[in-house]
Amino acid sequence: MQISNQYFHLGKAFSQRTSPVPVAKPELLLFNNVLASELAIPFEQYDNETIAQYFSGNQIIKGFTPVAQAYSGHQFGHFNPQLGDGRAHLLGELTDKYGQVRDIQLKGSGITQFSRRGDGRCALGPALREYIMSEAMFALGVPTTRCLAVVATGEQVYRERPYAGAIVTRVAASHIRVGTFQYFAARKDIESLKKLTHFAIERHFPEIFNEQEATPEQLSSEQVLAFFNAVAQKQIPLILSWMRVGFIHGVMNTDNTAISGETIDFGPCAMMNSYDRNTVFSSIDKYGRYAFGEQMTIMMWNMTRFAETLIPLVSDDEEAAVASIQPLLTSLHQKLMRGYMQMMANKIGIKSLHAEDEALITSLIEVLESQSLDYTQTFVNLTDALIDEKNHHELKASLGIWFEQWLTRVKENSSAAHQLMKSNNPRVIPRNHHIEAVLKVSQETGDLSSLHRLLAVLKQPYEQLDDTPHFQDAPKDNDKDYHTFCGT
Ligand code: AMP
Ligand code: MG
Ligand code: MG
Repeated sequence: MQISNQYFHLGKAFSQRTSPVPVAKPELLLFNNVLASELAIPFEQYDNETIAQYFSGNQIIKGFTPVAQAYSGHQFGHFNPQLGDGRAHLLGELTDKYGQVRDIQLKGSGITQFSRRGDGRCALGPALREYIMSEAMFALGVPTTRCLAVVATGEQVYRERPYAGAIVTRVAASHIRVGTFQYFAARKDIESLKKLTHFAIERHFPEIFNEQEATPEQLSSEQVLAFFNAVAQKQIPLILSWMRVGFIHGVMNTDNTAISGETIDFGPCAMMNSYDRNTVFSSIDKYGRYAFGEQMTIMMWNMTRFAETLIPLVSDDEEAAVASIQPLLTSLHQKLMRGYMQMMANKIGIKSLHAEDEALITSLIEVLESQSLDYTQTFVNLTDALIDEKNHHELKASLGIWFEQWLTRVKENSSAAHQLMKSNNPRVIPRNHHIEAVLKVSQETGDLSSLHRLLAVLKQPYEQLDDTPHFQDAPKDNDKDYHTFCGT
């Protein structure tokens, strides 16, 4: 294992050096062997008890120096200067077998100086859910943080009532968030802001230093602008892949926006069933700020907040700095909108977008919404319609004239269209009701076999299932009474 503690070495302003709070009776519930191999963790040499000790924080693997990271964040549009890891410990980094440095973080590992009123813990249900959701997202081709392990603590956590506790091990390209930049910008700690920017460039975009090496003090405005742009561009495939598979993040606060462009924080996320851009499942998102159809707008809002943090590094003249960042935001927005159209075009088998295709896409979205059609299943049906006429009748009934228009558009090149659609339209997504059912059985009986069956299915989301096809089924009630929660 190639262990480092780069974030710890950034210094005291960035994190608190603190150890996980030991737990009573760690028991390994889930372990991601494939990911562990990628990280060159010699897990075959450890028994499950040892792994449970390591990934509960009861024992620290030699070489790691755990810290709790400092950050701020806009929560539902309101700035909170003091967030930080209130229930997480960054153990350090591992260099994976591709040479990438990846953060290893425990979540639910006890209180830190950032815990405020929280207990520093995590309940078992949300821990298992994060594991399932992040694995599903990874298999869907969505950039995401991963889960290495879930360890039961043998302790209870109290929410409205007692629940079993657990610790999740999260693997991420880094845990640097927009909120990390906001933390230093809000404190006008320019020296740390430069250090963080330099660190983030080295970690995520080292090519920016290809032409000109620089120390934090020497960062040029061109390099800072290139960094901003690189971060912002990574948000496009992230958000568009959410839109492609019907994922609703649910809490796109700036502290939950990783600058690596990975999905992070699975607390209140959920999947959309029938198409409705206003779909919200999070119990605290009263005004639909983070509704399915708002996610691109919020991405732009978050990138604007990010841009603001970098202004002092671009120029001492604020107006000049704003003038140089603004065009980057404008072109980001244009690229996002074009990207959205292309993503939707891919879903209907159109590789090179013609001007009139936008109207075809827009009217499909209108039909999906007005007919409350299941997002995933409709695109699967369209995909199948290109190789089999048996569902044409049904599709004509639900999509009307649109279906004929679309068939006319794609029929010339229908085998290429079919291939494109197959790889862009999942057959199985981590449906809320299936996850809840599996979590219920797992927690009530301690038997994780149904959870493993679901995981196996979610690993091949673009394949037709013969084995457990019911995991594709949409819920009968469109999950109308389903609510998700943050910080559980
Ligand atoms: P989240 O809603 O998960 O993005 O968390 C927002 C903030 O609340 C972060 O600073 C978390 O570390 C903190 N937090 C969430 N749950 C807890 C908890 N049980 N104990 C301490 N801090 C928490
Ligand atoms: Mg969070
Ligand atoms: Mg959370």
